[in-house]
Amino acid sequence: MISGKNLIAGQWSAQGNETFVAVDPRMKAEGSVRFFNATDSEIDLAVRQAARAFKAMRPVTAAARAAFLESAADEIEKLGAELIETVDTETGLGRPRLEGERGRTTSQLRLFANLLRDGSFVEAIIDTAIPDRTPAPRPDIRRMLIPLGPVAVFGASNFPLAFSVGGGDTASAFAAGCPVIVKAHPGHPGTSELVARAILAAGEQHGYPPGFFSMVQGDTVRVGQTLVEHPQLEAVGFTGSLRGGRALFDTAARRPRPIPVFAEMGSLNPIVISPRALAVRGEDIAAGLVNSVTLGCGQFCTKPGLVFVVDDDASQTFIARVAELMDQRQPGVLLNEAVLARLSVDVERTYATGRVSEQTATDAVAPEGYSFPNTVFQTTAEQFIRDESLQDEHFGPVTMFVTCPTPDALFEAVESLHGNLTATVHSEPEESAFTSELFSRLREKAGRLIWNGFPTGVEVVYAMQHGGPYPATTAPQTTSVGLMAIKRFMRPVAFQDLPDALLPEALQDANPLNIWRVVDNQLTREPLHR
Ligand code: NAP
Repeated sequence: MISGKNLIAGQWSAQGNETFVAVDPRMKAEGSVRFFNATDSEIDLAVRQAARAFKAMRPVTAAARAAFLESAADEIEKLGAELIETVDTETGLGRPRLEGERGRTTSQLRLFANLLRDGSFVEAIIDTAIPDRTPAPRPDIRRMLIPLGPVAVFGASNFPLAFSVGGGDTASAFAAGCPVIVKAHPGHPGTSELVARAILAAGEQHGYPPGFFSMVQGDTVRVGQTLVEHPQLEAVGFTGSLRGGRALFDTAARRPRPIPVFAEMGSLNPIVISPRALAVRGEDIAAGLVNSVTLGCGQFCTKPGLVFVVDDDASQTFIARVAELMDQRQPGVLLNEAVLARLSVDVERTYATGRVSEQTATDAVAPEGYSFPNTVFQTTAEQFIRDESLQDEHFGPVTMFVTCPTPDALFEAVESLHGNLTATVHSEPEESAFTSELFSRLREKAGRLIWNGFPTGVEVVYAMQHGGPYPATTAPQTTSVGLMAIKRFMRPVAFQDLPDALLPEALQDANPLNIWRVVDNQLTREPLHR
């Protein structure tokens, strides 16, 4: 079934002679299908056809886009057992997790369909004219969001469904009205081809032009670089490493006409545990922390990689207990050889600083396949502040405790944190002064603040914020999870003094779409009477 070809504007294409194969990370076994790295001319055709499709898709209404997204969800579900088998073989993530991730992927597409049917996502704002204002009359100004144009989406290795070909970036770009060119992640190329077929089928059902969607395969940075350099591309959605995201951000900035890159990269997701929380709930917090660090073999962008505690006998007992639980847990299988190689280098570099001690015993029995021991490091607040490299991510089942001599030293250590996706505090209700002091500092550092929970597990809802200051992302004012992700692929346009008939429906007096609008500073669905 799987061809190994690139999908270029409705055609399956294999023009090049560079190929690669998928690898089963449990067996370290190569798959039989050869996947073709997209050539420069295939990439060029994909983007040119996307630009052409963008123009052809102008009349497609939000309601029609909603119907397309629902068909895409249906088509992904129709892939059935073949999809789950393929992605499990390519990633080793296990069927229960992958069935859950498929559910998240299809419900994400359907949630964006609901958003489109409601219609208010265009953020219509109308300030009516004041002809008799002095000294000069005020014109009529109406503003709304319009789609950007062709978007490149880079699939993530650790979410082969929910953040890949049919994942959140693609769903939000389609919802905005943008054509999409996906750079498939080489860790799960067969999965990518299957999902691309589903999206193509949905587009055909709704009469979309062929260029609305392309998918290019590649295990070389050339493919991604060529795509981002293309003059007709308008934006990039990326989930992956700091190194990769930053490289693509720099490429986009160097273009003669720079474009926005919404890159979501590494994060340490600090957790602070108060002395009182340790005393009251230490055992529960230890179990929750170990679950969160080892979930998906630690390959979550929201894995807690730093834990701050006040240094005393209780916290030392707690650290020893966490290390014991980590040792008792069977190490998992990592996504691929490259993740294992990078994790090994990153851990070695952390050891080499001479600023950390290891709390776990490294003789745990490893399974077959690409595996790394569950690891707990410990350092001090002083060392943490002195050496910024202790804030480098370990993408795998690794976490680090930072012991702080006093609560004030803990505040100071938190103050030196780089940008993160999340920050968590475990404390008791009676410690409100301590907790509020911490949150007032942490909110400068992270996109999502959590109290008495764990950061892994990200809800797809309207209010979700999955982003944060650099280096967590290159665009901290945006989110890549949740319904507001659509805003990344739209830009505002103001219309001044246009007659009603020339305005988009969203801004017309009668409000024919019946959407929520801000009219002269009042939120309303009422038509405008002039
Ligand atoms: P990656 O190495 O950054 O690769 C992601 C994609 O970007 C791949 O398609 C890769 O293509 C491409 N790419 C990488 N460097 C590039 C460059 N210089 N120029 C052009 N394209 C480039 O990420 P990964 O393979 O998923 O590795 C795991 C890392 O991602 C971890 O460090 C983890 O923290 C991070 N991650 C973060 C999140 C998040 O939500 N923040 C989620 C998942 C993963 P090629 O492989 O073909 O080069």
